[in-house]
Amino acid sequence: MSARPAVELETVIGLEIHVQLLTQSKMFCACPTTFGAPPNTQVCPVCLGLPGALPVLNGRAVELGVRTAVALNCTVHPESRFHRKNYYYPDLPKNYQITQYQYLVHPPLASGGWMEIAAEGGRRRVGIRRVHLEEDTGRLVHPAHGRYSLVDYNRSGVPLMEIVTDPDLHTPTEARRFLAALRALLQAIGVSSGRMEEGSLRVDANISLRRPGEALGTRTEVKNMNSLRSVERALLYEVARQRELLAAGRIVEQETRHWDEDRGVTFASRTKEEAQDYRYFPEPDLVPVVVPRTAAEAVALGVTGITPVEEVRRSLPELPEQRRGRYLRDYGLSAQDADLIVSSAGMAAFFEEVVRRFPQPRTVSHWLVGEITAYLNAQGKELEDLPIGPDHLAELLDLIETGTISGRTAKELLPDMLTTGSRPGELVRSRGLGQISDREALRAVVEEVLREHPAPVADVRAGKARAMAFLVGQVMKKTRGRANPEMVTALLREHLEQQ
Ligand SMILES: [Zn+2]
Repeated sequence: MSARPAVELETVIGLEIHVQLLTQSKMFCACPTTFGAPPNTQVCPVCLGLPGALPVLNGRAVELGVRTAVALNCTVHPESRFHRKNYYYPDLPKNYQITQYQYLVHPPLASGGWMEIAAEGGRRRVGIRRVHLEEDTGRLVHPAHGRYSLVDYNRSGVPLMEIVTDPDLHTPTEARRFLAALRALLQAIGVSSGRMEEGSLRVDANISLRRPGEALGTRTEVKNMNSLRSVERALLYEVARQRELLAAGRIVEQETRHWDEDRGVTFASRTKEEAQDYRYFPEPDLVPVVVPRTAAEAVALGVTGITPVEEVRRSLPELPEQRRGRYLRDYGLSAQDADLIVSSAGMAAFFEEVVRRFPQPRTVSHWLVGEITAYLNAQGKELEDLPIGPDHLAELLDLIETGTISGRTAKELLPDMLTTGSRPGELVRSRGLGQISDREALRAVVEEVLREHPAPVADVRAGKARAMAFLVGQVMKKTRGRANPEMVTALLREHLEQQ
């Protein structure tokens, strides 16, 4: 077997995202969808698939699906249907799952959209192949001690939306950025909590490598990634694995692989899930999903309980993409800062609230994207996990603005604020950190510095501006950053001119 000559291989990634919709009740019955309820306490004959139970479609789920489709620039199809996807598994009491996808016969809820992301080499559109609705299955629990498994049917029938992208992503980082942007969008329009750790957003990634210009290579599907970071790590691992196989002249097998977060590897699952024949057929107990375009059309078609597409479009709030544009235009933020802030609904809300209290957007973004994001990344936390609110940051920026503390002191206070939720004003008082603006106190330090550094003093007199910065720096050092820099500069000038 001879290895093919080394050519830069192109990575092709497509994503399938399952989103739990923010409804009060399940897709086809009135059972609640509360996360973390005791096992099998949120079940009824419909979601358990008992004989004679009839499903009734949750109109709210359809509306949230339409909301997403419109926000993702998709075409919402006037009529779509539910199908039965037949297979046997203990977490599926009916032996079939009710889902919408079988495009050859009926269209899904919506298709043909796009979302823009900040990709390598500029902003790019990622195609949205389809958006469809389906119900979730139950959950198997494998106790560590027992030789048996348990089934929890609380999740059975929970409304899910599946969003499938075109294979338009080309690096693991792009895939992570796309997911962050999608999550922010879903949160902004009130469709999902976006909590990956609670399973509200579940991602499967299809990934393959090809020589540029050639047909798509054999792909693997990677499952079981439960954070944005693990999506990126899993894909990086998978790219390296496939590249190595191809470089050795071997082939990539089409298979489903699972991501092991602790070991940092993907591994092939035991069963060949792709070999399944699901025997899809139309769900006979549910009528077609009819989504009217306008209110007039709803009347003409006799549709009630489903909001028309145009009305949904009008009800959408400012989307992250529009928000980004506003930050660039009205606030003068850099594209990079704007991208980072709008990539999380929590971060954007926090930013806007700080700006409301401290109306200098660029200063706010500087602290949020700089110090605070660095802290979040280092701790693996989200802004929402921190014990501080927008008023903490606004207060800190006020203290700098009024000259009470220096920027350097503010940076020193930040870790304490971020870990304990202490108020910056309190910290300044309790530690005696206020900026030194007392002329006489500073004059003594300035005179000391001038005595200790005759050479730079001579340089300043010879017109070398950089020597002045050195002298200011020495005063700051002696006062541990607490001196008011403008006052220091003025005092130095006075002394140098006198002598
Ligand atoms: Zn139920």
